[in-house]
Amino acid sequence: MMGCVFCKIVQKQIPAKIVYEDDKVLAFEDATPQAPVHILIISKEHIPTVNDINAGHKEIISSLFAAAKKIAEERNIAQKGYRLVINTNSEAGQTVFHIHMHILGGRHLAWPPG
Ligand code: AMP
Ligand code: ZN
Repeated sequence: MMGCVFCKIVQKQIPAKIVYEDDKVLAFEDATPQAPVHILIISKEHIPTVNDINAGHKEIISSLFAAAKKIAEERNIAQKGYRLVINTNSEAGQTVFHIHMHILGGRHLAWPPG
């Protein structure tokens, strides 16, 4: 989608520290990390929010979780613990309207979140 920063990362029009890629998803380091491990996994297809997911997106959703599991293992946080976050719309603080899953880990993560 025109003007979407994450579509531009998918199209390699703007740089990102890419850590994983397959045909459905792309993962890269968050530009403003909130934890020692803070990676975003995005769908290659432009889907604005979780509210826009439909039955045709099953493979994408599966790939998001498979990538999260793989990255958590690679970053050695799988056993210690990590958090997957998908912010949706304004009260959750979503700022980029292209679906992305945050992987946060490498420190104690407080609950409830702020
Ligand atoms: P959210 O608030 O859930 O929409 O998260 C958006 C995230 O995208 C934030 O954590 C930003 O730091 C991150 N972000 C925005 N632009 C970029 C970029 N060009 N490269 C890497 N991370 C980005
Ligand atoms: Zn997009």
